[in-house]
Amino acid sequence: MPERSATPIIASDHHLAHDGLIELAGGQPVRCYDSPERATVIRDALLAIGDYSLEAPSEHGPDPIAAVHDLELIDLVEHAWTDAVADGHDPRYPLLPDTFLLREYARRMPLDQLPTGRHDRLGAYCFDTATPIVAGTTAAARAAVDIALTAVDRVLAGEPLVYGLCRPPGHHAGRNLIGGYCFYNNAAIVAQSLVARGAQRVAVLDVDFHHGNGTQQIFWERGDVMYVSLHGDPRGSYPYYSGYATERGAEAGEGATLNLPLPAGTDGDAYLGALDEALDAIRAFGADAPLVLSLGFDTYHADPICNLALQTDDYARIGSRIASLGISVVALQEGGYAVEALGANAVAFLGALREGLSDR
Ligand SMILES: [Zn+2]
Repeated sequence: MPERSATPIIASDHHLAHDGLIELAGGQPVRCYDSPERATVIRDALLAIGDYSLEAPSEHGPDPIAAVHDLELIDLVEHAWTDAVADGHDPRYPLLPDTFLLREYARRMPLDQLPTGRHDRLGAYCFDTATPIVAGTTAAARAAVDIALTAVDRVLAGEPLVYGLCRPPGHHAGRNLIGGYCFYNNAAIVAQSLVARGAQRVAVLDVDFHHGNGTQQIFWERGDVMYVSLHGDPRGSYPYYSGYATERGAEAGEGATLNLPLPAGTDGDAYLGALDEALDAIRAFGADAPLVLSLGFDTYHADPICNLALQTDDYARIGSRIASLGISVVALQEGGYAVEALGANAVAFLGALREGLSDR
């Protein structure tokens, strides 16, 4: 068998300065589950294997972000922290919204009358108390986008698999919303960039525990980008208001969204059954571009904030199954908070995916 070349890991250290310190979980201040260690342990575990090569992202500028997000949302992500500090915010503490622009107010509130300080209108663009902003957040969010775009560049240049070690993650970020540790939607930006480069049909597969409400929203009315997600049942799991099986897209996108909510305690065998349904839908869609994979390891049985029951071996089975699609893969890191197991789970998943793709 010919020796396989190293699979690129695209990563940067910009995320290290994005450490939100605390989030509010059910009113309780807790150490942010999205810690910098998450990305560090995955990187180190993969590099220890020898099958991967670490590469820095190249800068892609703001245009690909603006192709997916509203300019006012980008303006908020870029300036909320500096506005807050200029207004007296103590930089030792992260920035979280004090109030949220809920439906009843949003109907009556002319958006051009929002407060001028971006930190004061954070609650018009943020949907939870789990997404703290600190001094390093903007640079980290931009670097994550560059990581994702560099990964897709490398796949289009011929790599069967490239892993973008994005942090912050992206799939909860909508066109005009941040939340769920996400600021810019890395996977959606990659999918849109594939369309911009001529793809007619792009498939996004989301195997993070949580529903990618942002990705779904961005492509909700689009028939050229399919969004398929396996996730914890939103009746009992974050983000609660999105990810029901009845949500299937609208207008030109009707039928191009597929949600497969899973009950608490779902194990590897049941997960693979749902994954087969997802992969059949992607095959039927007929993607003519690399698969965009939102990759989370928070489906792991010991994840501290989720409730599925996958084991490390299951990630190898999932990787092999995804490889059976027979198309190249841009794998972008989303969630996964059992830090002690992230390295082994990434090694298992990417190893099997890499092997399956190189055998085709
Ligand atoms: Zn997640």
